[in-house]
Amino acid sequence: METEEGRTPATTKRDLRFAIIGAGMAGILSAIRLEENGFHDYTLYEKADRAGGTWRENTYPGVACDVPSHLYSYSFAPNPEWSHRFSPGDEIEAYFERIAREHGLEARTRFGEEIERCEFVDGRWHLRAKSGLTDEADVVIAATGVLHHPAIPDIEGLEDFGGALFHSARWDHGVALDGQRIGVIGTGSTGVQIVSALVSRVRKLSLFQRTAQWIMPQENPPYSEQEKAGFRAHPEELQRLHADISKLFAEGFANAVVDADSPQMKAIEEACRDNLERSVTDPVLREKLRPNYRAACKRLVISPDFYDAIQSPNAELVTESIERVEAGGVRTSDGRLHELDVLVMATGFRADRFMRPMQVVGRGGRSLDEAWAERPVAYLSISIPHFPNFFMLNGPNGPVGNFSLIEVAELQFDYILQLVDELASGACREVCASEEATRAFDAERVEAARKTVWTTGCHSWYLDDRGIPATWPWPFDRFREEMARPRPEAFERLG
Ligand code: NAP
Repeated sequence: METEEGRTPATTKRDLRFAIIGAGMAGILSAIRLEENGFHDYTLYEKADRAGGTWRENTYPGVACDVPSHLYSYSFAPNPEWSHRFSPGDEIEAYFERIAREHGLEARTRFGEEIERCEFVDGRWHLRAKSGLTDEADVVIAATGVLHHPAIPDIEGLEDFGGALFHSARWDHGVALDGQRIGVIGTGSTGVQIVSALVSRVRKLSLFQRTAQWIMPQENPPYSEQEKAGFRAHPEELQRLHADISKLFAEGFANAVVDADSPQMKAIEEACRDNLERSVTDPVLREKLRPNYRAACKRLVISPDFYDAIQSPNAELVTESIERVEAGGVRTSDGRLHELDVLVMATGFRADRFMRPMQVVGRGGRSLDEAWAERPVAYLSISIPHFPNFFMLNGPNGPVGNFSLIEVAELQFDYILQLVDELASGACREVCASEEATRAFDAERVEAARKTVWTTGCHSWYLDDRGIPATWPWPFDRFREEMARPRPEAFERLG
């Protein structure tokens, strides 16, 4: 018998125990989907004291998701209450916590437990947390997120700064901002959201720009009470909205960026160029804000109000490079000291870390650090050769960037479930991608990456140490197709 997704569920189930690492969006999803599919023996491990992942960690002023909220929701938990087309971070965090609570996951989560080691011994994963707690599981789901290790810039004198200094993902809410002089280093999605949110509150805002960014304009209207009532009364309307936005995103964006010459890509570029020309009146400032590379080469920044914010009388765009940080502020290469009370590093994340520093040791004592000595590689971003029964959500080389990672994780989880069914039915005791399939996938991915807009001449966190985008280089439909069913020949099975 096949399910709607075409999956053949195991009829007689071997009792499998699961360890899910991380209680963010993907961990919560995993627990819910396991439960739905009759796998009740699992524990979620979460290093922090709350669920919510990236939305728990990123609490900076202006934090929001620039993927539309009705797409950035679980397909099985539409939310008629979203306040805006692009809702703020605290609402998203509350959504994940509510869904976890409604599914009884708080009781299934060991909060404050950071797993530091996972080792495959005699067919089972042995886990050890920093606290000394240990556990064993047949299957590990690494739902550890993508961007969660802050990149601290290598700038001289950071430790000399006399005011408050912190990374955007470690916001210090004890620090007063109103009426202060704030410096922001970085013009990625985060820096842009911070600048827009803070400029009206502070005495002076200095934005230190190393590289200009293209800005895609995007209105962010609130949903009216009437609209929300309509969503509540007609949940099927929300399902339709989810599907429509997903299609729009795939066709208008996901498929565009993987083909640098596509007409959709040209439309995105025109919209960004037009936004700059129309919105920035001072020609000198306009040129400083004009990137010298193609739109969407770096992860596209989406903002309704950044250009307004940076043109505020109390805002300054600083394009001279940072020489060093001093007690009183930031000294730039022109010798000027930009005096500051608060300095925010919106300098991004170490995108190649994934579940590390957790030590993972697979079959035959092979460590993840060895497997990833050159760079992170995984078959379809899910499975690593010699690491049986260990599956990643949003692992290396998947669709990341301007996508709904929820949609990505849902597709990945249904794929993983089909492999889990093989274990549960007794068809095999161990399953992981073969070296051959992984090598072939990686070679094909690297080749396909050449056509993408990410390789058209910019520096970004998408690029690996060789300058090759580490993201999914094909249209989103191909991802859907791949996720529909594992190719039997791509996996090695034992037992
Ligand atoms: P980012 O895109 O990596 O941007 C980091 C910024 O810091 C860049 O402007 C970079 O300049 C600058 N920078 C780094 N080191 C520097 C140094 N030593 N001196 C001067 N400038 C330096 O990081 P992010 O803005 O935190 O965004 C990361 C990703 O998180 C996004 O791309 C997105 O995928 C996700 N995100 C999503 C949302 C959302 O709404 N969905 C919001 C925020 C973040 P260069 O460009 O010159 O390297």
